Amino acid sequence: MSRQLNLILTGPPGSGKGTQAKRLVERYGIPQISTGEILREAVKSGSEIGKRAKAIMDAGELVPDEVVIEIVRQRIARPDCKPGCVLDGFPRTQKQAVALDALLKEQGREPARVIALTVADDEIRRRILSRNEGRADDNEESVNKRLEVFRRDTAPVLAHYGKSVAKIDGVGSMDDITARIVAAIGASA
Ligand code: AMP
Repeated sequence: MSRQLNLILTGPPGSGKGTQAKRLVERYGIPQISTGEILREAVKSGSEIGKRAKAIMDAGELVPDEVVIEIVRQRIARPDCKPGCVLDGFPRTQKQAVALDALLKEQGREPARVIALTVADDEIRRRILSRNEGRADDNEESVNKRLEVFRRDTAPVLAHYGKSVAKIDGVGSMDDITARIVAAIGASA
């Protein structure tokens, strides 16, 4: 294993990124950076960023690249990210991926390793519409929009990282999926 583990955990909404990111935090002792959670906190606190982001998030659209890139730039520079981090829900566009690559280089960090969770659309709709996390964007209209946005804007991120992406079946027990991710990380060390 190299000295630093910068992981990108990507996948459609409802693919279990957040759940698995928290398990990887435990396993590798590195923090999770969830741009979605940071933005939801900003909405709750009523900050300027939160005010700008709320309507966009509720509609299932993407917050502007420069906003999330700046969030990650500041977060990843903090000392707890020195051994690495799990990026959950970032990058979500090609532009964010390019910015992340540059930012890792600038800060003298290891390049990111990419784990992509795959789950079929029907299963995603079922999971999101049956979960109850109090999220304003967990409704049918927003889920359809988020799936469309994922295909349009986030699928190209996988192309950006090409063959180095580890595609993991995101259906199964939580333990099984964690084991698949850990095996893929071990294989890429
Ligand atoms: P998530 O918790 O990852 O599902 O994100 C919830 C919402 O936050 C998304 O639907 C977007 O509106 C916004 N968001 C989170 N991460 C990003 C990102 N990297 N780029 C743009 N918007 C984001």
